[in-house]
Amino acid sequence: MRYPYKYLCHSIQKEPINISCRHLTSVVNCDKCRRKSIVFIRYSGAHLCCDHFCNLVERKTKHELRRQIDLNKRGARIAVAVSGGKDSTVALYLIHKILGERKDLDLCALTVDEGIDGYRDSSLPIVASTCRKLGIEHLVVTFRELFGTTMDEIAESSRQLATCSYCGVLRRAAMNRAAKDWEATHLATGLNLDDTAQSILMNFSRGDVERLARLGPHKRVQNYLVPRIQPLRSVPESETLLYAVVNKLEFHDLECPYASEALRNSYRSVLSQLEDKYPGTRHSILRSYEEILPALEKLYPPAELRRCSCGEPTMSRKCKACELLESLATGRPT
Ligand code: SF4
Repeated sequence: MRYPYKYLCHSIQKEPINISCRHLTSVVNCDKCRRKSIVFIRYSGAHLCCDHFCNLVERKTKHELRRQIDLNKRGARIAVAVSGGKDSTVALYLIHKILGERKDLDLCALTVDEGIDGYRDSSLPIVASTCRKLGIEHLVVTFRELFGTTMDEIAESSRQLATCSYCGVLRRAAMNRAAKDWEATHLATGLNLDDTAQSILMNFSRGDVERLARLGPHKRVQNYLVPRIQPLRSVPESETLLYAVVNKLEFHDLECPYASEALRNSYRSVLSQLEDKYPGTRHSILRSYEEILPALEKLYPPAELRRCSCGEPTMSRKCKACELLESLATGRPT
């Protein structure tokens, strides 16, 4: 695999190289042992070798899993949403590594095929291969079978919103539906620290305080909604990439053809500039959010969810996915 060294550790810019632990080894020793370090973690100032770096990521993930799921309760069924990208692949691998030994717990991988030609079709075999290696059941649901359309068709149609706005809503509905069919008690996603900090900033900037209160992970079981958990929410994106590389995990690294339309890109760029200048910014944003979350939850307690005619949860008469599909079919605004 070829990645710019800078993307991996924000260290010195080097030419893209074929990455392995040997290539990443620097002249500086690990702060925890005498082996050569492979990464400098800027926000903590630590130089870590491969083993201590992996321990760090695994510890953070285990801590989040403990906070987000009651592991003393038997019979958990965790569906992991896996697109095949580095984050969801690492989430699946780590959940399996941390909880895989438990006989009272079931795990499956869930992939949503949005119907994006040349993109999703190339990631599906990679997820299937990872699941085979780990011995995990792999379920695939498609926009075509659930909604009678694909993202390519939606992108070509006359529409009012950006492509990703349709994709995000429909994908969430597809994941929830498939997780419910599998009788999942939790739906795990590969959201990392960068994604989480971006979502917090986005909702603040748009003044969407109510949505900010409901970002997840979900602590409460609500009607028709499988609670979502985010085991990688305190692991930065660069660390999920490095973890995937040093553990030789196979993942899909093509960019979605519609990615340039995503509003999130502007927040990603602002946040990455801030992190470059002030290491630890993403952690501070998450910490501040967690501190004000109890107040936000008081202001916006979880609404009583109703059942849309499609079976999905909604706060009004119709769920957002049905509203969007109807507006595409009729040309009327949502
Ligand atoms: Fe969907 Fe947009 Fe992500 Fe592509 S970039 S998979 S269209 S949300």
